[in-house]
Amino acid sequence: MVGQAGAYRLVTGIWRRFMKDGRCFSTSSSHQNASSSPSANQKTPSYSYVVIGAGSAGCVLANRLTEDPQESVCLLEAGPKDKWLGSSRLSWKIHMPAALTYNLCDDKYNWYYHTLPQAHMDNRVMYWPRGRVWGGSSSLNAMVYIRGHAEDYNRWQREGAEGWDYEQCLPYFRKAQCHELGENRYRGGSGPLRVSRGKTNHPLHKAFIEAGQQAGYPFTDDMNGNQQEGVGWMDMTIYKGKRWSSASAYLRPALGRPNLKADVHCMTTKILFDGKRAVGVEYVQSGEKKRVFADKEVILSGGAVNSPQLLMLSGVGNADDLKDLGIPVIQHLPGAMDCNALHKPHGDDISAVNAMTQEKPL
Ligand SMILES: Cc1cc2nc3c(=O)[nH]c(=O)nc-3n(C[C@H](O)[C@H](O)[C@H](O)COP(=O)(O)OP(=O)(O)OC[C@H]3O[C@@H](n4cnc5c(N)ncnc54)[C@H](O)[C@@H]3O)c2cc1C
Repeated sequence: MVGQAGAYRLVTGIWRRFMKDGRCFSTSSSHQNASSSPSANQKTPSYSYVVIGAGSAGCVLANRLTEDPQESVCLLEAGPKDKWLGSSRLSWKIHMPAALTYNLCDDKYNWYYHTLPQAHMDNRVMYWPRGRVWGGSSSLNAMVYIRGHAEDYNRWQREGAEGWDYEQCLPYFRKAQCHELGENRYRGGSGPLRVSRGKTNHPLHKAFIEAGQQAGYPFTDDMNGNQQEGVGWMDMTIYKGKRWSSASAYLRPALGRPNLKADVHCMTTKILFDGKRAVGVEYVQSGEKKRVFADKEVILSGGAVNSPQLLMLSGVGNADDLKDLGIPVIQHLPGAMDCNALHKPHGDDISAVNAMTQEKPL
């Protein structure tokens, strides 16, 4: 399963990109203009951006990119809306925090992946849940809001990831967050992502925290604050008793914008290239094969398993693997889309997103 730090790395990366790079918003071309694509014709819809996957990252992208009315976004999600039986009511199985385990037991909103037998784990098959619904895995996850450790970000910077030290990441965490306890040096108080302090009066919770301290662990007042280690109350992406998924935080507020088309049950099967440039996608909806084109960018935010898989299906990956699979090679990209990544517990979303948007740094 993708670690929490991995998830935040991805999402933070996207925010950083938007905040740093005004070009995303400052120039635009009409979504009517599909001239960048040799395959586009007048009947084929075209948008400034095509975003694949309405998960944690995809919902952020859909919102931020459509803040500029000059831009247009087509957001394609393989799964359904996070609603109850096609109605306008939210699905309680997703939005009621205590119902968390329901969606882990079947494939209704879940890709329900299982690994091959793992040689180094006594050949056990590991269950690998991933969200397949508006909000993606943020509609299925355990709602714990915990950032990576500050020293990990600092190490990334030392190892060459310029601009990724904790001090430079922190403003983006704060910008995203609306913490119920208000803002301070570490917390945001007015962002779209609602975060509340875990609360319970259950005596066992209290006893657990006391036991941790008796065992020598420090108490920490804020796991995302100055002292990340220790026992204490966790922060949760819950608001007024409901799960605050990426769909709630970013997608729903943007749905009324005329420059956003958010379609569901759209399984993207291929990214279309003009030479080495991604210009559109092919997808299947209700059994019908369709195409949509992007004047500016195709953004792949399909998650840790599906993003590299879709890149490979589209001809981007290790050339030897692609040839074995009979897939014409668009770009030999060893490592990042390594077949083995699918068998590793820490597949890296960033490499996948980066590969499709490599004209600008994340
Ligand atoms: C059970 C579980 C518990 C977790 N608990 C926590 C936690 O408590 N705290 C925490 O911080 N993190 C947790 N995580 C991890 C976190 O939820 C993920 O890391 C994060 O949501 C990943 O975001 P993403 O945008 O990369 O992918 P996702 O949110 O998974 O989004 C990918 C989206 O793309 C769609 N998609 C994929 N392929 C295609 C395609 N071909 N065509 C169209 N659409 C496609 C998917 O259906 C999905 O909606 C948990 C994850 C799971 C599964």
